[in-house]
Amino acid sequence: MGDQKGFLKVSRQDGRYRDVWERVSDFKYVAKPRSEKQSREQASRCMDCSTPFCHWGCPIGNYIPEWNDHMFRGNWEAALALLEETNNFPEITGRICPALCEYACVLGLNDDAVTIRENELAIVESAFRGGLLRPRAPAERTGKRVAVVGSGPAGLSCAAQLNRAGHNVTVFERDDKPGGILRYGVPDFKLEKDIIDRRVEIWKKEGVVFKTGVNVGADLPAEKLLEDFDAVVLAGGSRVPRDLKIEGRELKGIHFAMDYLCQANRTAAGEKVPAGKMIDAKGKKVVVIGGGDTGSDCVGTAHRQGASCVVQIEVLPKPAECRTEDYPWPGYPLLLKTTSSHEEGGERRWAVLTKRFIGEKGCIKRLSCVKVAFEKAGGSACPAMKEVPDSAFEIEADLVILAVGFLHPEHSGLVADLGVGLDERGNVKTDAAYMTSAKKVFSAGDMRRGQSLAVWAISEGRRAAHCVDKYLMGESTLPFM
Ligand SMILES: Cc1cc2nc3c(=O)[nH]c(=O)nc-3n(C[C@H](O)[C@H](O)[C@H](O)COP(=O)(O)OP(=O)(O)OC[C@H]3O[C@@H](n4cnc5c(N)ncnc54)[C@H](O)[C@@H]3O)c2cc1C
Ligand code: SF4
Repeated sequence: MGDQKGFLKVSRQDGRYRDVWERVSDFKYVAKPRSEKQSREQASRCMDCSTPFCHWGCPIGNYIPEWNDHMFRGNWEAALALLEETNNFPEITGRICPALCEYACVLGLNDDAVTIRENELAIVESAFRGGLLRPRAPAERTGKRVAVVGSGPAGLSCAAQLNRAGHNVTVFERDDKPGGILRYGVPDFKLEKDIIDRRVEIWKKEGVVFKTGVNVGADLPAEKLLEDFDAVVLAGGSRVPRDLKIEGRELKGIHFAMDYLCQANRTAAGEKVPAGKMIDAKGKKVVVIGGGDTGSDCVGTAHRQGASCVVQIEVLPKPAECRTEDYPWPGYPLLLKTTSSHEEGGERRWAVLTKRFIGEKGCIKRLSCVKVAFEKAGGSACPAMKEVPDSAFEIEADLVILAVGFLHPEHSGLVADLGVGLDERGNVKTDAAYMTSAKKVFSAGDMRRGQSLAVWAISEGRRAAHCVDKYLMGESTLPFM
């Protein structure tokens, strides 16, 4: 470590956002860039703790203390080389990862954790600015052909790794552009889409072939992939939304979060949505059901569209603001999260159960709700939910967004045609080598794991790539991490 007492001299400086009044009037990235000097100062806080739990906390095993040290010394190229060993998409994780590593930072035990995510972003953005990130096609090709279905973070990282190993990789994507949820779910104010395009261009120049607008299982028979390719990786995500099947669900003005966000992302990219199909919050009273990250993205989008008010409700109780005994260090704790979207306004309510939707002339007008409490009873480990007597109330709404999670991948089409087995949650089942019940068919990301995080999708894609390479070649030098 360059400065062993850095953490005693420098305090944590969280990333700064643009002013609320400014940022809610556009969909551009909310955060302000950090100077190189600030980045190096923040890197100096990494204290050479000997047993870096941050490395353990990161699903892709980023070499965090090592690149912090290089950064502190201004060795940006060396920092980049280490970062590239473990992460194909640091410009994504550096922006949207919930930074599991920071919850495991040893400094965080009695001080503020190192700003690991922003340090990661500083390294990769400095590399892009300095022209260090250039296409590097493999020196030799193996002659093996691999099809990757789905271009979310799992499919993309898998394709990049397999291409690096010399295989001829084709990515099939049913949307018109690659990126998966990164492009059509995550709003621009968290992740501008030229960030995805910039990296995809590098992979194209390295030899990865992208076939967009191809829905495998509909436009292209899944069996054709088995004929044409030596291995197939299914990375189609987990997109079947959980519904709220209560009275009034059929009313106009109630939409799934992904339908809303996907349309908002397309509009932000300049696409035209036909009148009558537009889900627009302008001037409306918006209720977002679901207190998680997807719900928060809907809150931020509704504010930008000019909603007259936004209420986000969650059935679970309000989480604690700091670690409790239930979430001991260094695990990732379930804590109250206040995102940039929450800072922009709106109201949040917890322990609220929606009982029915009430409408007028076929359109949503109000939600009938009740307060709930969670109590452990009869020695059960899981608290049971109970309605609080006499706590019924209503919330006015012209637009309701359902952000209550996802069930599993789509089972019709691709999955059914290949006949791959499913696990008890309805996700694609694989063995420890990421192979499904169908020979030479592998799976990775949300499709295998269930709806999760971008960093886990990258981890899954990389691990699957190692397994595919080993299957094709008998051994693999790609990392299984
Ligand atoms: C609204 C929202 C916000 C999120 N925000 C964050 C965040 O801030 N941070 C974070 O870490 N995680 C976030 N996540 C989770 C994260 O985006 C996902 O875990 C991740 O994108 C999963 O990656 P994936 O590659 O497995 O699947 P996906 O990103 O879902 O990509 C799957 C791709 O496969 C394609 N596909 C499916 N079937 C076929 C077929 N038959 N033929 C061709 N193509 C097909 C789909 O079109 C899609 O492009 C968010 C999720 C949502 C829904
Ligand atoms: S990918 Fe996420 S968990 Fe890993 S170092 Fe980066 S911010 Fe931390």
